[in-house]
This record gives sequence, structure tokens and C-alpha cells, in this order.
Amino acid sequence: MSRFLNSRFAAIEPYTPGEQPQGQMLKLNANENPFPPSPAVRAALSGEQIDQMRLYPDMLCQDLVQAVCEVYGVAPGEVLCGNGSDELLAFLFQTLCPHGAAFADITYSFYPVYAQVYGVPVQLVPLREDFRLAVEDYAGLPGTVFIANPNAPTTLALGKKQIIELLEQDRDRLVVVDEAYVDFGAQSAVELIHTYDNLVVVKTLSKSYSLAGARVGFALACPAIIADLNTAKFCFNPYNINRLSLLAGAAALRDRDYFHHTVGRIIANRERLQTGLQNLGFHVLDGQANFLMAGRHPKLSAKDYFLALRERGILIRYFSQQRLADFVRITIGDEAATDALLAATKAILEKAVF
Ligand SMILES: *Cc1c(COP(=O)(O)O)cnc(C)c1O
Repeated sequence: MSRFLNSRFAAIEPYTPGEQPQGQMLKLNANENPFPPSPAVRAALSGEQIDQMRLYPDMLCQDLVQAVCEVYGVAPGEVLCGNGSDELLAFLFQTLCPHGAAFADITYSFYPVYAQVYGVPVQLVPLREDFRLAVEDYAGLPGTVFIANPNAPTTLALGKKQIIELLEQDRDRLVVVDEAYVDFGAQSAVELIHTYDNLVVVKTLSKSYSLAGARVGFALACPAIIADLNTAKFCFNPYNINRLSLLAGAAALRDRDYFHHTVGRIIANRERLQTGLQNLGFHVLDGQANFLMAGRHPKLSAKDYFLALRERGILIRYFSQQRLADFVRITIGDEAATDALLAATKAILEKAVF
């Protein structure tokens, strides 16, 4: 720490992303998509487009916004694109939490970081014993509600009915639904933005569109909220999405066949992995994401499982946080990765001395 650091930052604990190992590891620790982006993305990024990089990008992201509108049935005034959905979440904490924020004790770990950075007071709402989020626990809380749906890392999802319940609890309280993983089997709340002016839906191209490296996300809400978020963007970085990512994002969104095909494969691999792990004695939360929470094995602790897989070149995620310490988080890979993980797990269980 230098002697110049602002005091507010002195105590901040930054977000810890999954490791990015340099060697040959099977990487199932950051919820990345195992498949490359749509071939349409490759086609969109020509040498000519690279030459155009001497120019600033379109600060209104018009073509990308248009692609979002085509896919999600919204109007351009209801969309704001961000440098990853993380940037949009940051704008939301910065500008749209007039009465603080409320979110689960176990959820996307960037929420508490942003709250701290922007000085937003937080009401933590514990998940129930079985990791279920009970919407009635949010009744009467005035702070902007942040819900990851499906939740990370528990994988459990709320239905649209429960989202409506949250919205109806107080029409003067904002609800942010972070749908980073919704495409893997949960219900989206997007169409509710036309009915509820206290709803923001945040989405990303990082997971279901295989574009984590491009950093593209978008927020969908009524035009007044989008205008507020635009103010935040233009106070920070008007050119928040670079030229190549604008092109990549629009191309990926418009290739519906590829999207459905790759998402379908990930769901099939998840189901096979879930059954396989259950047959080997693991408890697996019944989730809807591109990752699984597995653990509570009668003979192998989550931490030992994590370490044994690491020794075999497979990287998953272990959280030491007390309520999660009995589980590991495993990102769903392609078919070969699923085979490799199941084979390694079998070998670990056979070798372990109990
Ligand atoms: C991955 C993730 C994001 C961030 O996505 P980016 O668009 O890559 O910034 C947001 N929310 C949740 C819950 C996530 O898991």
C-alpha cells in the first residue's frame, strides 16, 4: 500500500476471480463457456475492422443495441450496453441505491465489493438452510434488491412468479435481476420490464455466448432508468465498449442457431455430470446454471476433492466461506471435460484411504 491511497480503499477486500493458470490445466473454475464463440464472430472481425481501430467506437453502441432489441423484444431506449455486466452492476450500485442495497449472504461476491467501494449500506438477507432464497424475507426492506437468478454459486433459480412477488412488495423499490446464467434453464424476467418500472434485468455475453474475453453485457429497464445509467456511463467512460467487442457481441447475439446448439450441449453435459456425481455419492444442488455445486460426500471432503482434482490437472472452485465449505463449484465443460472429470473423480474415490 502506498501512502497516497484514499482511506476508503484501505480496508477494501477486492473481488477474487477464479485462478487463471498458465500451464495445461483443465479449467473448470471460472464458469467460462467451453465452446468458442459463434463462427459469425470470426467473420465479423476482419482485417478492415482492425484498421478502423484508429477511430473511437460508437459510444451509443447502436448496432449492438439493435441486436439486443431483435433478440429480446425490447426497444432501443430500454437497453444500455456495458463493458461486461460487471460495469453495469457498478453503475447500479453507484447511482440507483438511494436507500442502500439488499442481497443474499451467499450470492455473486462482487455485490459486497461494489457496495463497499461506492459506500452503499447493505442489508444481508441470509438464504434459508437449504440455500433457497425466500422472497418474503425481502418484504419491507427499502434498499435496492440485487438477485442473481440463477444464484451464484448455489445454482438455484427463482421463477418469474417470485420475481413478480419481489417487484410487487414495493413498487417504489428497485429490483435488479442479474441473469448471467439464466439461459441454462431458468425463467427470464426480461418481458416484465414493460410492466414494472422498478425492475432492471442485467445480462452478459460472457457465459452463454462464449464471449467472456470481449467484455459485453447489457441492462434492460424502462427508459427512465436507462437514462440514469447512461448518465453514470457518460460520467465515467463514454466509449465503454471497444470496436471489436461491439462487432463480436452483435454477431454472437444474432446467431440464434449456434446459441441454442451450444447452450443445449452444456445443459446435456450438466445433466450427465450431475447424475454421474450423484451415483458416486455426492449431493448435487438441483440448479440451472452452467456449473454445479456438489459436495457433502460421506467419505471425501470438498476441500480434499478440490485438491485431489488439482493434482490431476483439473481446476475447480472451492470456497472456504463457512456455509459453502462442504461444496465445490464445477463449471460445465464440453463432452471430453465431463468424461475427464467423472473419470478423475472415480479414481480419487478408489484411491482414497478411508
Ligand atoms: C459472471 C457473472 C457476471 C459478470 O459477467 P461479466 O459480463 O463478465 O462482467 C455477473 N453476475 C454474475 C452472477 C456472474 O456470475
